[in-house]
Formats: sequence, C-alpha cells, structure tokens
Amino acid sequence: MKKNIVVASHNTGKIKEIKNLLKPFKFKVYSALDFKIKEPQETGKTFIANSIIKAKAVSEKSNCIALADDSGLCINSLNGNPGIYSARWAGKNKDFKLAMKKIERELEELSLTSKRNRRAHFCCALTLFYPSRKIISFQGKVYGHLEFPARGLNGFGYDPIFIPDGYNKTFGEMKFAYKERISHRQIAFNKLKKYLLKI
Ligand code: IMP
Repeated sequence: MKKNIVVASHNTGKIKEIKNLLKPFKFKVYSALDFKIKEPQETGKTFIANSIIKAKAVSEKSNCIALADDSGLCINSLNGNPGIYSARWAGKNKDFKLAMKKIERELEELSLTSKRNRRAHFCCALTLFYPSRKIISFQGKVYGHLEFPARGLNGFGYDPIFIPDGYNKTFGEMKFAYKERISHRQIAFNKLKKYLLKI
C-alpha cells in the first residue's frame, strides 16, 4: 500500500520539483496546500533547523510523513548573508532584482570586487519528519562566485548572479535541466533518494 507523504511547502514551483523527485517511490504525494496548513514562522538559526520547523508543523497537522526544504545563498564576505534570510531580503514583493542590487551595493561598499572576494554557495536542507517524531535531514551545497550585472532569464531567485565553480555561465543562463543536475537541491535530493531506497 502507498504511504502518504506531504510536501511542507506552499511554493508551487518547489512542490512540483519535489513531487517529480518522489515519483520513483511508493508514496501518495500531497502538499501543505492540500491540507490548508499555514506556513509556520521560520525562527531557526540554520537551514536544517528551519526545514525541521516546516516539516514538523505539517506532519503534526496532517499526521503523515512530511518533507520540507529550506535553502538560500550564503556569501563568504558578507558573513554568510543573506543565508537563511534569502527569501526575506527580497521583501514582501519577492523582488529578487532588488535583493541582488542590495548584495552588489554591499560588496561595492566594502570594495569587494575581485572573484576571490565574491565566493558564495547555495545551500539546501531537506528534512523528513515522521508522525513517530523521527527526524532525518540531509544537506547539499554548490560552491561558486558572484558576478554583476545579473545575467540570464532562467531559474529563479539569485540564479542570475551565481556562477558555479568550473563554469562560466550563471545559473540564470543555464537550462533548467542542466542546473538541476549540479544544484544544491539535487545534491541534497540524491542523499534523500539513497536513504529512501534503503528503507
Ligand atoms: P525558502 O523558501 O525559505 O527556502 O527560501 C529560499 C530562498 O533562497 C528562495 O526564495 C531564493 O531566493 C533562494 N534560493 C534557494 N535556492 C535557490 C536557487 O536554486 N536559485 C536561486 N535562488 C535560490
């Protein structure tokens, strides 16, 4: 019999991506939207802590296994910011052009113009939260640097300023299928897949 799993997200893009990942497994996949569950406050200090908060809230309300993701962009010379605040830096209107400008301005104010000074990584934490309260988390990171002005219309969020190591295109210039092969989310998903194949 298929087990129920609820994707602890209200972001339709993320839900689609995660549903796709779970296709090979024997789950009946729902999302927080199906259960009309409100988004909890992300009060954690790390990506993993926030993914646990999201998965716990959804598992407790639905009484099913919940899967949550929390992700963001960490810039070395800005003390890891925007990090867990990546979505919040774009404000209520989710204006990532504004958020990318803010990063560019902060780096310029600190005279951090070289590639070496613009090291950054994307991080993705995934958490499974079971009704038994068992918690399993995985993390994936992709390293690179930032370049301005923003380039490319693909992807979302901070993709147009991030160049992964070994490439000269931003994530925003890469085809979705290509980015997804090397992304932080895919690295975390691969770890999750390995776990699900073992149980
Ligand atoms: P969350 O929904 O709290 O996990 O917010 C994650 C935020 O981090 C998103 O709104 C994006 O701004 C940023 N982010 C995470 N992953 C990516 C990515 O793959 N590309 C670009 N931005 C990302």
